[in-house]
Amino acid sequence: LNRRLAGLGTTIFAEMSALATATGSINLGQGFPDTDGPAEVREAAVRALREGRGNQYPPGPGVPELRQAIAEHQQRFHGLTYDPDTEVLVTAGATEAIAAALLALLEPGDEVIAFEPFYDSYAACIAMAGAVRRPLTLRAPDFRPDLDELRALITPRTRLLLINTPHNPTGLVLTPDELAGIARLAVEHDLLVVTDEVYEHLVFSGGHHPLAALPGMRERTVAISSAGKTFSFTGWKVGWVTAAPELVAAVRTAKQYLTYVSAGPFQYAVAEALRLPDEYFASFRADLRRKRDLLADGLKAAGFRVFNPQGTYFITTDITPLGEKDGLEFCRALPERCGVVAIPNVVFYDNTEAGRSLVRFTFCKQDSVLEEAVARLGRL
Ligand code: PMP
Ligand code: GLN
Repeated sequence: LNRRLAGLGTTIFAEMSALATATGSINLGQGFPDTDGPAEVREAAVRALREGRGNQYPPGPGVPELRQAIAEHQQRFHGLTYDPDTEVLVTAGATEAIAAALLALLEPGDEVIAFEPFYDSYAACIAMAGAVRRPLTLRAPDFRPDLDELRALITPRTRLLLINTPHNPTGLVLTPDELAGIARLAVEHDLLVVTDEVYEHLVFSGGHHPLAALPGMRERTVAISSAGKTFSFTGWKVGWVTAAPELVAAVRTAKQYLTYVSAGPFQYAVAEALRLPDEYFASFRADLRRKRDLLADGLKAAGFRVFNPQGTYFITTDITPLGEKDGLEFCRALPERCGVVAIPNVVFYDNTEAGRSLVRFTFCKQDSVLEEAVARLGRL
């Protein structure tokens, strides 16, 4: 393993899901639903397979039907206009979009500012690009970013802001004011911005506001999303990028040497998913909101300190009230102690002190599973 990847080992998601399987535990660690997405969307994938659409290499930027549907979705939900031919790129999940964007846009030695805790692929991709990460620490209890701290982190080497809202793992959703402050700094310092918006439809109040909609941002923002979370198809790995033509062209250059293309038949199905009626998105969100409350109440009753998320399908907790200090130790022991798996937030920090006692649970599971998990945690 080269020096750039040293220390990046196995992702926490793989480690914890393997532990869940080995111990037969309830897996509230890795974020994937235990109910598949809409039947009609699955049928659309089957139809595409049967009819021979996408069984061979699809076009590099993605099938035209999906690029068109992505552009329509950006218009319908965010009022943003993108040209499906030059401003949309289909990727192998948001994960590839993040990798391709960072590999395409960064020079070795460039600095990237990202909120910590950060989604684990950010650190890996920044490292693979030979760039340097500069974390802006989000602190309990509300995890709001301090924009003065952000300003202070900007140096002449800063090239890019990597923003994630709704934010995994804290559930933070940036407010219009915070977004405006970030946008002003990006314009003032002429920075590129990559926004990871995979949880854009999972905001429980106030809605999701894309950074690209703000003044001066359309031309400098690479927006990333994915079908995995919105439609409960994390295994399909269909994601996308929307950005100005030069930025999409840059990301596509990297993308074509990572996977070239992927997920042919699923691309046709996701095009249909993106056109589902508003009711689908509203009821998906309402259902998850209810699950959030179910898990939050259960965790509180079990003695955890709960930080209520405004978005995503994760709850971050503090285990200090349980007499525990170390989230990593706690999560490694939890399957043996009570048959539940969770994720230690500390692995998403450079400044590990800020995350040592924080632990994340997902609530994208059936009610009966959440209830059983909560009952088990209550016996700790
Ligand atoms: N970004 C964030 C913040 C995530 O939580 C995830 C996990 N779904 C991803 C990116 C990766 O998305 P995908 O599964 O589409 O690659
Ligand atoms: N995004 C998911 C999570 O945060 C997992 C993705 C993965 O396993 N790479 O749990």
